[in-house]
Amino acid sequence: MSYAILTDLTRCIGCQACALACKEINELPKEDGALKLSATTWTMVEKRHDVFIRHQCFHCLEPTCVSVCPVTALEKTQEGPVIYHEDRCIGCRYCIMACPFEIPKYEWDSVLPRVQKCIMCYQKRVSLGEQPACTSVCPTGATVFGQRDQLIAQAQQRLQNHPNRYVNHIYGVHEAGGTSVLYLSDIPFDQLGFKHARSDEAYPKLTWNILSQIPSVAGVGGVMMFGLWWIINRRITLEQEQKKNNSKSPDSNQKKTP
Ligand code: SF4
Ligand code: SF4
Ligand code: SF4
Repeated sequence: MSYAILTDLTRCIGCQACALACKEINELPKEDGALKLSATTWTMVEKRHDVFIRHQCFHCLEPTCVSVCPVTALEKTQEGPVIYHEDRCIGCRYCIMACPFEIPKYEWDSVLPRVQKCIMCYQKRVSLGEQPACTSVCPTGATVFGQRDQLIAQAQQRLQNHPNRYVNHIYGVHEAGGTSVLYLSDIPFDQLGFKHARSDEAYPKLTWNILSQIPSVAGVGGVMMFGLWWIINRRITLEQEQKKNNSKSPDSNQKKTP
């Protein structure tokens, strides 16, 4: 069963409850007024042309981030969410370069950085049969969770019932090969800054000539990156050990004695 999120921009009042709920469930710092997605902001709401637009990972049906990862650190689950295995990640950042929507972010400030993005509350909610935190708190039903085919049917019904209210398009049915985050709007999507609004092919297919080279490059590059990561990690661990030993040694104690 494949799940999705449908966000109807005509119903969004910009209350930010979805963004706050995301921070809470994922234990992310709550800096005020985040204006773009970051390693600590996995969903946010911006205002363009008087429309509030909720941004998050699109959870593509054929995710480029997954296809370029040399160590399967990103995974498209059967239920729909694209999730991240931080224990497998070697920090090559191919996913960040490959994502057509510029979604994944890197923890540049961290000693052991991870890639960060919305994971559709997979472990804490969706895999347990519950809806994500963000959709559960929306006061207007602007963002809702459900089975993808049912949400598409629901969106089609809204377009049929209110032809003057919406542009006749459900964003995400075909874009980038289809996504698990869908949108309705009363303003054309390209005017709202939505990317690749006219591309119906999955990005791994569109860029296959380039991306098909990546596994071999990534194979070599991945090994190199893993080597680098191992060396750096080892060095950090050794430095920490050294500091510990120094603080325990009689010499260091003597120095502290006046
Ligand atoms: S939007 Fe980007 S990060 Fe999200 S699933 Fe698609 S390719 Fe991956
Ligand atoms: S699905 Fe979960 S992780 Fe994704 S934006 Fe919503 S609350 Fe955040
Ligand atoms: S909680 Fe709903 S109404 Fe509020 S900003 Fe998010 S999508 Fe819009």
